[in-house]
Amino acid sequence: MIRSRNILVPLSAAALAGCCSTQESGPNIIYVFPDQFRNQALAFWNSPEYAGHVGWKADPVQTPRLDAFADESAVLSRAVSNCPLSSPYRGIFLTGMYPERSGITLNCMAERPESSLREDAVCISDVLNAQGYSCGFIGKLHADHPTPNAPANPGHYVSDRRPEWDAYTPAERRHGFTYWYSYGTFDEHKNPHYWDTEGVRHDPHVWSVGHETDKAIEFLRNENGERKKDAPFFLTIAYNPPHSPYESLDDCMEEDYAIYKDMGYSELYVRPNADTTLTKADAARYYFANVTGVDREFGRLLDELDRLGLSDNTIIVFTSDHGETMCSQGTYDPKNSIYTESFNVPFLIRYPEKIRPRVDSTLLSTVDIMPTLLSLAGLSEKIPGTAEGRDLSPVLLENGAKCDVPDCALYIRNTNGPKDENGLVRGFFPAARGIKTDRYTFEIAIRKNGGLESVTIFDDLEDPYQMNDIDYRKEPELFESLLKKLAEKLKEADDIWHRENMIETLELI
Ligand code: CA
Repeated sequence: MIRSRNILVPLSAAALAGCCSTQESGPNIIYVFPDQFRNQALAFWNSPEYAGHVGWKADPVQTPRLDAFADESAVLSRAVSNCPLSSPYRGIFLTGMYPERSGITLNCMAERPESSLREDAVCISDVLNAQGYSCGFIGKLHADHPTPNAPANPGHYVSDRRPEWDAYTPAERRHGFTYWYSYGTFDEHKNPHYWDTEGVRHDPHVWSVGHETDKAIEFLRNENGERKKDAPFFLTIAYNPPHSPYESLDDCMEEDYAIYKDMGYSELYVRPNADTTLTKADAARYYFANVTGVDREFGRLLDELDRLGLSDNTIIVFTSDHGETMCSQGTYDPKNSIYTESFNVPFLIRYPEKIRPRVDSTLLSTVDIMPTLLSLAGLSEKIPGTAEGRDLSPVLLENGAKCDVPDCALYIRNTNGPKDENGLVRGFFPAARGIKTDRYTFEIAIRKNGGLESVTIFDDLEDPYQMNDIDYRKEPELFESLLKKLAEKLKEADDIWHRENMIETLELI
């Protein structure tokens, strides 16, 4: 692929609009979040400087670029995805609000018309756009309810798949993102498609991560007036891999698969909680191949940032929407659970000269990301009142400012509400709520027909692989203290479990 353009291109109208920026000196922000990239799939956690900060072994993956990036970053060991599913995560990240307020309570698809990013929600991109930033979104949005609005075929969905999951997001629903190269959700990694800013569809027939990185590099170079010339930018890159499928060379690059193809299960699976009798067990080779491919492409992005002299004034985050259980806990569900492989996400943030590289154990929640990034950009006054998370920038900057550090993070699992006569899902069922504290993982799940489904308690300090579910009836003091903390957190989040007194009405002991 030829990437030789390093010449000045004629300024487009969009580029010329940069003259009107109100935040010309602010840092750029690049937010990279591959889908389903678990924190354990980062090789540096096995190195001596990092291993002591987590109680578990990392996967046998090769992630040389992220390892080097970690050495330059604050690496959060306990960041979690409050609602570890694609669409709810995206809603929380974009709005700083929990799913009930963002509008996205369930994964977006045609049969769930109510789960969609609220048009009136103030997103991080709305705020940054209003402050003069050029905002770009590349990759998987998966935050809009699919409607029959295909640009090339008005009145129809974007494909003939039923039910439809994919979606086109028209300009009026882009929340301040003025550069667009995105789609809803689609899982053919070497046959991706995108709609651009003008609504034109592109089908590049190449591995999506490489292609999206090419587009990101075009944005950085401002090759075609992707952004205002003299204004800061906010670029969000939502790679789909290492999301499933991971079954064949259709799903990853062969050069990356070659690293793992001859490894047996005993090499691939280092976590003692993994059940390699699951038919999914072969997936690890392809999953790790995509992890290594994402690493390489992320490195290419960093190289371009360096080449353009932009690294010093750019905040760059590498994270994910949730993890991947990959046979741990004997479940086929890769996400949507409180197990650490699903709930814990990578969170690496680099801001040269401002954020000191180190490992930090702060319990960062997805809701905290918007206020924290805005504050790091010098825009703490612009954090919308609707944001429900905390500004944790003082923790990252270590500047001595007062900061209310969270003592736990909320876990949310919703499932479908009842279906109407047309087969459409109405509302949602709040199936489980839980918390992660500095030591424990705690979850209560309920049944749709009433009553308690389960109580789960793991001591993550003594039992980092979560193999011993503590019987809450035998540890009443521990249980009561966790229950109290959960109730406080549900109240703080004004969660439906709080509003409907769910805990009080359960017969727990
Ligand atoms: Ca996802």
